[in-house]
Amino acid sequence: MPVINLLSQSTIDKIAAGEVVERPLSVVKELTENAIDAKANAITVEIKDGGISFIRVTDNGCGIPKDQVKKAFLRHATSKITSIEDLSYVESLGFRGEALSSIAAVAQVEVLTKTPDDITGMRYNIAGGVEEEPEEVGVPAGTTFLVRNLFFNTPVRKKFLKQPQTEGGYVSDMMEHLALSRPDISIKFVQNGQVKFHTSGNGDLKEVIYRIYGKDITQALIPFEKSGDGFGVSGFLGKPEINRSNRNFEVYFVNGRFVKNDVITKAVEEGYRAYVMQHKFPFFVLHFTMAPDRIDVNVHPAKMEIRLIQGSEFYNKISKWVGEGLHAVELIPNVRLVE
Ligand code: ADP
Ligand code: MG
Repeated sequence: MPVINLLSQSTIDKIAAGEVVERPLSVVKELTENAIDAKANAITVEIKDGGISFIRVTDNGCGIPKDQVKKAFLRHATSKITSIEDLSYVESLGFRGEALSSIAAVAQVEVLTKTPDDITGMRYNIAGGVEEEPEEVGVPAGTTFLVRNLFFNTPVRKKFLKQPQTEGGYVSDMMEHLALSRPDISIKFVQNGQVKFHTSGNGDLKEVIYRIYGKDITQALIPFEKSGDGFGVSGFLGKPEINRSNRNFEVYFVNGRFVKNDVITKAVEEGYRAYVMQHKFPFFVLHFTMAPDRIDVNVHPAKMEIRLIQGSEFYNKISKWVGEGLHAVELIPNVRLVE
């Protein structure tokens, strides 16, 4: 006869953690988004070994008040929403209160944090959900998370990780997107002791594009800005001469969040239709802004996908605007060749 067991809390936590923390990329993303939500204007992210053995995220944001450091690591503990109604208007990147508890369930975590008003800060260690009492320390204002040995206590998950180089590549791509999403924040990314990029935080998107993609791309950009009916888009469209062979350079943000959404992807591509040959894809970096109640961000725990409410209206407008943006610079449309 089957026996029904109640899972232990630590097993429940590890299973839940799997939804949020799939690989080093997820840890870096959650910690960096927390730094952004903490209103930091300088963030440093360092990884070693693809992030498997070492991730450190340092910010100069608001810090965590002393008496709340432990609480921040409880499941569903968040300072960002208080009820389901708030979700319609959520402007922070986080809101589920699941990241810190999940990371601490499957890695060795140390946090150093201090609010600007306090004289001393706190150090707190928690590894595989087992904590040490927080202690007072002298640290600068802001927060540093050090995450070591991801999945040290869940060997099966660890086995499914790819080679450090591949995992590091995922992290690096995501860091680039984060930097492009926030030209107003100085973001430094260090991989195996080497600075990969360091943005100034002066708010200039073109400068960030330059630091990440280099000169040739930067010289082939069309500034693009349109708005109307409660939503808008701004950024840069790549000229057809820098069309790419995959979609990795179709970068866009919705209300500051790097997301995937088929309606937006297809709409921009449609706008480019006359300028892109088969099996080629445009380069673009676009920031969309729309009323928070017109998108549903609560589709997936990793928050990568969003749903647009009234998608066809967006589709028509975006494709038209992009077409106009390209048309305005008198590009010569490609003859559509069948390859
Ligand atoms: P969420 O981001 O969904 O609120 P997290 O588990 O990521 O949940 O974080 C829990 C809470 O810990 C946050 O709501 C915030 O109050 C606090 N916190 C996390 N990281 C930082 C940080 N870098 N600076 C200040 N507070 C932080
Ligand atoms: Mg968070």
